[in-house]
Amino acid sequence: MTASFSAWRLTLAYLLAASLWVLFSDSQLIALGLSLEQLERAQLLKGLAFVGVTGVLLFVILRTHHRQHQRSREALQHSEKRLQQALDAAQDGLWDWDLQSHQLYFSPGYAALLGSPSEIDQPQWLEHLHPHDREAFERTLQQRLEASNPVPYEINYRLRQADNSYRWIQFRGRLLFNPSGHAERLIGTACDITQRRRDEDSLRQAAAVFDATQEGVLVTDAEQRIVHCNPAFTRITGYEQAEILGQSPSLLKSGRHDKGFYDNLWHTLQQRGSWSGEVWNRRKNGEIYPQWQCIRVIHDEQGEISHYVAVFSDISALKRSQRELDYLAHHDPLSNLPNRLLFTERVEHALERDRSDQHTGAVLLIDLDHFKHINESLGHNIGDLLLKAVGERLGEQLGKRMTLARLGGDEFGLLYEQCQSAEQAAVMAQRLQSCLATGFEVADHELFVTASIGICLYPEDAQDVAQVLRNADSALFKAKSGGRESYAFYSQELTAHAHQRVELASALRHALDSQELRVYYQPLLCLHSQQLIGVEALVRWEHPQRGLVGPGEFIPIAEETGLISAIDAWVLQQSCRQMVAWQAAGINLQFVAVNISSRLFSRGELDLRVAEVLSDSGLPAACLELEVTESAVMDDPDTALRLLERLRNLGVRLAIDDFGTGYSSLARLKRLPVHKLKLDQSFVAGLPDDQDDIAITRAVIALGHSMGLKILAEGIERVEQLELLRQLGCDHGQGYHFGRPQPAAALTEQLENAQPPVYHGSNSVIRPGAY
Ligand code: C2E
Ligand code: MG
Ligand code: MG
Repeated sequence: MTASFSAWRLTLAYLLAASLWVLFSDSQLIALGLSLEQLERAQLLKGLAFVGVTGVLLFVILRTHHRQHQRSREALQHSEKRLQQALDAAQDGLWDWDLQSHQLYFSPGYAALLGSPSEIDQPQWLEHLHPHDREAFERTLQQRLEASNPVPYEINYRLRQADNSYRWIQFRGRLLFNPSGHAERLIGTACDITQRRRDEDSLRQAAAVFDATQEGVLVTDAEQRIVHCNPAFTRITGYEQAEILGQSPSLLKSGRHDKGFYDNLWHTLQQRGSWSGEVWNRRKNGEIYPQWQCIRVIHDEQGEISHYVAVFSDISALKRSQRELDYLAHHDPLSNLPNRLLFTERVEHALERDRSDQHTGAVLLIDLDHFKHINESLGHNIGDLLLKAVGERLGEQLGKRMTLARLGGDEFGLLYEQCQSAEQAAVMAQRLQSCLATGFEVADHELFVTASIGICLYPEDAQDVAQVLRNADSALFKAKSGGRESYAFYSQELTAHAHQRVELASALRHALDSQELRVYYQPLLCLHSQQLIGVEALVRWEHPQRGLVGPGEFIPIAEETGLISAIDAWVLQQSCRQMVAWQAAGINLQFVAVNISSRLFSRGELDLRVAEVLSDSGLPAACLELEVTESAVMDDPDTALRLLERLRNLGVRLAIDDFGTGYSSLARLKRLPVHKLKLDQSFVAGLPDDQDDIAITRAVIALGHSMGLKILAEGIERVEQLELLRQLGCDHGQGYHFGRPQPAAALTEQLENAQPPVYHGSNSVIRPGAY
């Protein structure tokens, strides 16, 4: 409009100027009064000037117009190029639909996408549309065309490609109207969003997985601040996402792992980009639980760490069922006892442990005798119930560090760790056998079973688990073939020895009641005056079959079986009574010495027992001497000290027996309230020749005297020993040289007939004297 207006103005100006020139130039020339010839020449010049001026004007106008045209064309090209570049950069295609001609124009990018020429008509284009999208497309298009405004719209469809595959295209367009208000064309861009839709689909799927998975997922940023978690995380830990956002995952720590564990985790994570393993964490309610956790490092495009993702599952249930499975794998379902597998493992461990601790142990195989008769006659159900009951009863007999197992069928195994002797194993075997002696009430039947037991001691009889079980098995075979309800050791000698010891132990139980124990008395003398000062009470067992049995044989058994307390108490009582009897008979003995076992000594209430016996018997406390061994005192010196003090307060005399065989601490010895040291007979035996024994004897005497104690030498058998001891300054003596232990009556008789008063030797007569 503006261009044509200025063209009109320019033309009118020209016409006006040209007309004025034509109208007034000639009259001006005439007014100059020129000759005709001059006038003609002037008119020619005027005409030429007019042509020249208008020519120049035309040239200027044309050149200006051309330049303008050139500039607009360049601007258009430039803008087209920019548009194309923009479309290329956006990977968009341009389309233009002429609604009059129904021609569709596609930019080369779009055409390439469709595999079509850049201009096709609409029906042709529609064929590219996915059949499912066609109806929706036409409906939307219709609505657009009917709309009277140029509001942009957006719509997504699938378009078929040249290779017949479909791609998702996003159309964005706008309806253009001509000046008269009729829709003229639809124009817009098209963009391939197939990949974006795929990505969105994957994201949607990932989000669904993230929400639905049973595994807890925790995402932190590079600074380890929690940025995201899933519902499973909340379910497992009890923390809602809102509570923990921005916090550190360390709030889940249970405290079960040390710094080294986390250092290692981070090291692996940095090195390998991922870590997986078992972690104990803490739930919001404080409960600690195990989880299996995988942590991964996420990097951004620059390769920098952007996030950490931890995926974990709560494995507490798994652990529980693993434990249950483990229990099932290692236990016999019928008896609930460990099975052969666990038993073998335990024996193996015990062998290793005891080997390094230098302990000994035993394995006992217990097999029920004639059990198959029960199964055959009463059925397997009853047999099973009986086996269960047997297992329970055997289990009641167990002490510390023992494992009972059912090895299969009617065979049980007992691992007896730290079993110190064959006797202990035999006592255990007997205890197991006798616990079965009472009948079993099973489903209205009273059933009786006996068991045979094979015993293998380790490490004497076997070093490895297979050997232990094999030898125990052959011992069991021996026991079975030697008549049922017996036990046997793998080694023949042990079997005989243990049998004897066990028999002795059970007989000893009756010995006290059956009054088979005797107290013998051995004289104790003053070595300087050679006078009798007291006697030592020594117990004997008058065994009905074996005759007189010495204490060396049965005291250890009595100590093992606990009978020692009763024996010592009995000896104490007998000795006190005998001493009172001697005093009443006018026999002047200073004291009776009674041995006290370390077992009884360590019990602590010995002083009460002694006080009771003294008051029952009426013996003055000063006439009783108690002998305790060095080891009994030194095992627990503080308790011993308190007990000895209580005993001394009673007024009884105290002696340390077998001095020199234990490991006394001189510092402790000094504090003990004892009166006497009894030098062990093993040192006296070497006198008078053995220089070491002489040195020890001399030292003990010097030591004792320096602490104000009397020294008694035990086991004096020869006169030379007596002489030397006397020279060394030893105070008292005891030994066969003076007299053997003998019954009270024999000693009484000897003392009553004592003539002359001084004691001269074992064959001489002794006389009680002043102390
Ligand atoms: P002991 O208390 O050191 O008793 C001395 C032992 O040496 C006694 O042995 C005695 O017979 C023996 N003996 C004495 N003189 C000689 C000798 O010249 N030569 C030799 N070779 N031996 C001699 P016995 O009676 O066999 O007693 C052994 C040990 O048994 C005692 O040693 C004592 O520790 C313990 N014992 C004895 N009676 C009892 C008791 O009633 N209770 C406790 N707990 N232990 C007792
Ligand atoms: Mg003694
Ligand atoms: Mg002794």
